[in-house]
Amino acid sequence: MLDLSRKIAEIEKLLEEGSDASVTYAALECRLTIEYICYERFKLFHSYLSPKDMERWQPKHIVKQVSEDISDIINDEVTVSVASRGDELNELVTQEDYEKLDYKTLGTQKSVDLSKAHKLWNSLSGLALHVHLPSVDDEGQNFYGSTEKIKSKVKAAVDLFNGLKNGDLIIGGFLGETFNIECVSCGALIKKPAMKLKSGNVVVNCISPNCPESYLVNYMNGEYVTERNVFKFKCNGCGHDLDVPHQTFSKLHLNSNLEITCGNCQSKTSVIMRPLIKFEKNT
Ligand SMILES: [Zn+2]
Ligand SMILES: [Zn+2]
Repeated sequence: MLDLSRKIAEIEKLLEEGSDASVTYAALECRLTIEYICYERFKLFHSYLSPKDMERWQPKHIVKQVSEDISDIINDEVTVSVASRGDELNELVTQEDYEKLDYKTLGTQKSVDLSKAHKLWNSLSGLALHVHLPSVDDEGQNFYGSTEKIKSKVKAAVDLFNGLKNGDLIIGGFLGETFNIECVSCGALIKKPAMKLKSGNVVVNCISPNCPESYLVNYMNGEYVTERNVFKFKCNGCGHDLDVPHQTFSKLHLNSNLEITCGNCQSKTSVIMRPLIKFEKNT
């Protein structure tokens, strides 16, 4: 977990130096810190989300998507405490029984003000990390942005970090029933909150960045039914089934050629990306 107190001290030292270059560097440090804070939380949810599922990469949106698709615990303020149940296990029935135990605090996860973090992340970049595009009204051209404006945003970012620095743990995962799929190609364990799959026909992508597998999950008669999302071809040599994952085609262009080697007889079959005509009935 990022040592925020150390980061804050480094940023404040750059502010004290006060040169155009050090203040600009402080702005960059603040932006990186905001990204790190959000991404280190996201990292704890890797088993639940594939890179192909991510709609946007900006730190605020990454946390928001995990919150909506998996669990909002990613940005809740939560204190975790533990207690030994000792020999009293059978006597622990009600919530009050559990509350009476002798708890030891493990740590607290702080909640990030995502809206504030996102605004700062944007304005730090706008003020400090680009050379201003000159217009006809500008007499000269400046290398650095306005030191005063940058300093004010850096201080606002430091205030944000100060509010988070007492958080000493982050929590990942989903508290509830999960449905797990072991990828047939790469062996990765893909986890999904079970309730998100109950609508049926849910496509679950493999979490490995380079694995093309995806699965279609349906919920029928109280059971989850999984099938590989593949196109089926026949081998010309031996008639064996050739299964190609849907995602294999996502990076191909018009007229691209995909060569498939049959696992049974080693013959090669080519699949060419071409438009397919479908005639609709006149109504
Ligand atoms: Zn996989
Ligand atoms: Zn074959």
